[in-house]
Amino acid sequence: MDITELRDRILKQDRRALARAITLVESGRADHRAEAAALLDALRPAGRQAIRIGLSGTPGVGKSTFIESFGMFLTGQGLRVAVLAVDPSSSRSGGSILGDKTRMERLSRDPNAFIRPSPSQTHLGGVARRTREAVALCEAAAFDVVLIETVGVGQSETVVAEMSDLFLLLLAPAGGDELQGVKRGIMEMADLILVNKADGDLKATATRTCADYAGALRLLRKRPQDPEGFPKAMTVSAIEEKGLQDAWEQMNELVTWRRAEGQWDSRRSEQARHWFVEELRQAVLAQLETPQALGEINGLAQQVADNSLSPSAAAEQVLSALKIAQG
Ligand code: GDP
Repeated sequence: MDITELRDRILKQDRRALARAITLVESGRADHRAEAAALLDALRPAGRQAIRIGLSGTPGVGKSTFIESFGMFLTGQGLRVAVLAVDPSSSRSGGSILGDKTRMERLSRDPNAFIRPSPSQTHLGGVARRTREAVALCEAAAFDVVLIETVGVGQSETVVAEMSDLFLLLLAPAGGDELQGVKRGIMEMADLILVNKADGDLKATATRTCADYAGALRLLRKRPQDPEGFPKAMTVSAIEEKGLQDAWEQMNELVTWRRAEGQWDSRRSEQARHWFVEELRQAVLAQLETPQALGEINGLAQQVADNSLSPSAAAEQVLSALKIAQG
């Protein structure tokens, strides 16, 4: 299938073409990279946009249960939903977090849902690029909502927030007065905090936990991208499918407000700028990691160590040898 055909099929919402295109953007081969870039460029004029929703939470909090219920809720509203994942640890567990077929079983059978496991890559930067490009492909294939899941570890939340329009943080009900060890930086990224498992014996605890987080959110500095009252904390039960409608209404309120205020477009522009610089950084770093470059760097490092060359002169030699410096 050539790029033109792949483009046409994706625009016609052909799922097999979409899956194939995602495989293409996941490939590290130079010729595939070039094809992927051409395909993404060919799809851009269609200008389709989904609501990109990032979702983070520690293992066990109920992310897959929530995505399944919420995904089914959205397809029930006539919307088409794609689910992607950023899972920097997937190579360790020998498969992706979404690779397990038992996860999201109902949603994966829904014709209006498309679920794609995280590519197995150790390098977060690599996973980030592939996921971001997969998001763009899903948008071109006219999905209304793209959910991007990540495990709440390390840098992956930041990466997902940088490719999302909305960022949801899923938390579990917590006993005691202590807020769970949620880092301030992660709280500050959240548009909605969803305290899951607000059902049965856990309901009262969930309600208390939610009030605690609502209080904590009020202490944060007001962000320009928020209307009055946001970010918010609310309770949901993924298992009992409760609170989903309310959560969706809150998301829509945010989206509507941000679109009207120009925040939506400016955030997307900022993100595009960020990813361009990030891409460039990665490409330059990759040039420093070729065997040839490493050989030269090691030789120069020895001269620097012997005090026969200054660190900056040595760096200059490497930089001028890079493709980028030669124009
Ligand atoms: P993940 O690791 O974040 O993807 O979490 P899972 O979706 O696999 O859920 C972890 C556990 O929490 C499972 O045993 C779920 O059945 C349970 N769980 C998920 N959502 C709810 C909920 O809304 N209420 C209750 N009581 N349990 C839930």
